[in-house]
Amino acid sequence: MPSSHLTDNLPDGNWPVFEPGWVWLVGAGPGDPGLLTLHGLNALRQADVIIYDALVDKSILSWASANTEIEYAGKRGGKPSPLQRDISLRLIELTRQNKRVLRLKGGDPFVFGRGGEEAQTLVQAGVPLRIIPGISAGIGGLAYAGIPVTHRDVNQSVTFISGHDRTGNTPTAVNWQAIADGSQVIVLYMAIKNLPEICTKLIQAGRDKDEPVAVVSSATLPDMRVLETTLSRAATDVDEAGMGPPSIICIGRVALMRQCLDWMSALDGAAPRNLDPLGVGLISETG
Ligand code: SAH
Repeated sequence: MPSSHLTDNLPDGNWPVFEPGWVWLVGAGPGDPGLLTLHGLNALRQADVIIYDALVDKSILSWASANTEIEYAGKRGGKPSPLQRDISLRLIELTRQNKRVLRLKGGDPFVFGRGGEEAQTLVQAGVPLRIIPGISAGIGGLAYAGIPVTHRDVNQSVTFISGHDRTGNTPTAVNWQAIADGSQVIVLYMAIKNLPEICTKLIQAGRDKDEPVAVVSSATLPDMRVLETTLSRAATDVDEAGMGPPSIICIGRVALMRQCLDWMSALDGAAPRNLDPLGVGLISETG
């Protein structure tokens, strides 16, 4: 057990001890600090140094111990950012100084976050590590918009896709025809820039141009915005609304559920717009 003052903020439990010379790779969740896991909080309480990414909410950092060093290693598309290799080398360097190194990444570290690469580099360098998953924006961010990423009446599968590859272009390794044919619900990360091309590809591959689409920017954060649109209108509507990264894009009829489940607007007193957006009846008869 870590010494008791470090676990003051945690429920009773057998919390792992952060040993010097280790890296803990932690997912911070999509933004709302309350979505950090308890393992994540335990890590913050014990870390000597935190290396954090652009999408990590700063208030989470204030939960670290007062003497924790905090370093920024943000990487944002289109802007100058440290090379992945430099970040990995920095992590290794800090462990050589016998520090407890917390690498804090937005969402889940292993979902489009290059956490796999970072972790592999550490293992190759002989650095011991622990992985602490986080809530990914493509699930938790949609939930804040009132969108269940699966719904029994819509989908038994979901496909997560990155909107760009290493070069920044629409990924050519993705078989868009197969996605259009077989993906019941598509969740796009990092897709604002290439959204016009992606939507065109999906429609050309046979996807309904009127298929519901929701775009959620700054999901779970105070400036969260949600756009409800369709596949053919999505790119123009996003442009006109001035929405940019970070945004999650959900393509599929689950997006309609927001009409019923927009619980954040309900907090402000709004009534549901439609109790049965999927048209399946008010009470399920299938049990
Ligand atoms: N590891 C992260 C994803 C990193 S890739 C995760 O699991 O969530 C960065 C992309 O994640 C952004 O371009 C955006 O598509 C998405 N994203 C992360 N945080 C977000 C947020 N608060 N709101 C909307 N999208 C977000």
